[in-house]
Parts: sequence; structure tokens; C-alpha cells
Amino acid sequence: ATPSALMVGTGRGAQLGTVIRGPQALERARRVETIAFDKTGTLTTGRMDIVSVEPAEGVTADELIRLVAAVEAPSEHPIAQAIAAAVETPEPVTDFVAVPGRGVRATLGGRTVHAGNASFVEGLGHAIPAAGNDLVGSVVHVADDERLLGRIVVADTVKPSAAAAVAELKRLGITPVLLSGDNERTARAVAAEVGIDDVRAGVTPEGKVAVVKELQAQGRRVAMVGDGVNDAAAIATADLGIAMGTGTDAAIAAGDITLMRHDLMAAVDAVRLSRATLRTIV
Ligand code: ADP
Ligand code: MG
Repeated sequence: ATPSALMVGTGRGAQLGTVIRGPQALERARRVETIAFDKTGTLTTGRMDIVSVEPAEGVTADELIRLVAAVEAPSEHPIAQAIAAAVETPEPVTDFVAVPGRGVRATLGGRTVHAGNASFVEGLGHAIPAAGNDLVGSVVHVADDERLLGRIVVADTVKPSAAAAVAELKRLGITPVLLSGDNERTARAVAAEVGIDDVRAGVTPEGKVAVVKELQAQGRRVAMVGDGVNDAAAIATADLGIAMGTGTDAAIAAGDITLMRHDLMAAVDAVRLSRATLRTIV
């Protein structure tokens, strides 16, 4: 492939709403056989709403929301933004720490409040009661160092373009995989809605890298599409890293391609474009 021919490909990509880092990206894209999708903010809109606020005994719903909004306010995660938006002015916190793919903690009023997934909060030594098994949504467990303070459930919706994009990728012979840090039930519900059979849920950012490597070890060329800080390492590991333009700086910096359109057909266009580009060169 000549660089000039590939530059034609990158130019057309810009018209289609994709920004391609360099000609090498397209060369690798042409043989992609597997495409791994992040869930939140990639297959889903990432605009989350609070579904329920469930304080523990002795805690009020107002108190729970106030605490979680304060510790989530500095976070750029879609879950954090939904919860922080529920109060007018989140209280200031100190010692904020975000643990990608797990949760956040910060100090306010002299105590440290942790908000995140089950393993994050269990890591503090708190036992989490079994959740209702009909639940579809991301559960934010909340605790301080002493005890569980309750949980907040948030959910978002699948992008209107997701199912059609997955169907088109399958038609092109590309196997879709869902890679999510979220719980199994929610990940499976989203996968079923968009037509993905291979679901890896509850995976940490390192786990996402491990799955990409596992697929590569099977001899497959892997694309990874994501938006979060938690996706950046997997995007960098993939043969073709694709970042959502709406995503975090970390994801965009790790990617070969940035999709400037919200809809996932842009991902299909990127793959199709790379094939077409090569066909005109060879
Ligand atoms: P996904 O892979 O679906 O985009 P992430 O890897 O970003 O999800 O997050 C995985 C899980 O970690 C979330 O479903 C949530 O339970 C928890 N989590 C991550 N960041 C936060 C946060 N800021 N607040 C609460 N929970 C979080
Ligand atoms: Mg995401």
C-alpha cells in the first residue's frame, strides 16, 4: 500500500465523521475479524438516570444522595454525572480518588465515603445483601469505613443505531463481543438488545486488556471500541483502537480512530472504508 493512496482513505474518513490517526490504522483495520464494544457510553447513550435510591437503615434518601453526589462530582464517569446532577450544589470534598472500572471515594465531614460496584465496596470488608435478581441497571453501592449506607441504581438506554451497526458488522463477517465492567445481568440485557452473543461482564480495565489479548491469541485481529478511562488500555492493546468522540481524553489518546458521530454506524463505516481503501490500492 502506498502512503498517498492511504491518505485518500483518511480524507474520506474525515468526511464520514471519523478522524484517523495515520495510514497505519487503516492498514490494520482491513483484517479486523472481531470487534469488542464497551457498554456504557459506547453501545448505550451514557446519559444515565437515577432509577432508585435505597438507603440503609438509619440513613435517609436525601442524605444518601447528598453524600454520593458530593463524592461523585469530581468524576467524569457517566454514572457520576447522573448522580451529581441530582443535587444543585454538591458539597466540596477532599482526597478524591477514582478507581477506573470500580468506583470513587472522597472525604467530607470528616469521613471517607466510597461509591462503586460490589467488589469495590466488599473490599472494605462490608457484606452486600443479595440484590433483587430482576434488576437491570448499574448499582452504585455506598459505604463509609464503618458500614453500608445504601445503594443507588442508575440506567441508560441503548443507542438507536447500535443494533443495526452490530447486524451490519456480522454481515461483514466480523464477530461482536461485549466487554463491560458492569454486572452480568445488565450487560446481558444490553447485549441481547443489540444482538451480541459473546458477553464478558464484570471485567476490570486490566480484564478488558486480557480479553483483547485472549482473542488475539486465538489468531484473531481485534478492534476495540470504547469511551472511558477504563477502556484506554484495551483500546491501545487492540489491533485497531476506536474511541468515541464523546469519550474521555484517555480513550481518544489511546485510539487509532476517533468517531465524531454519536451513532455506531460510524464504526461500521470505518471498517468498510478501510476495506474499500485497500481494494483501490492493491
Ligand atoms: P463499562 O465497562 O460498562 O463502561 P466501567 O468499566 O466504566 O463500565 O465501570 C464498571 C463498573 O464500575 C460500573 O458499572 C460501576 O458499577 C462501577 N463504577 C465505575 N466508575 C464509577 C463511579 N464513578 N461511581 C460509581 N461506580 C462506578
Ligand atoms: Mg464506557
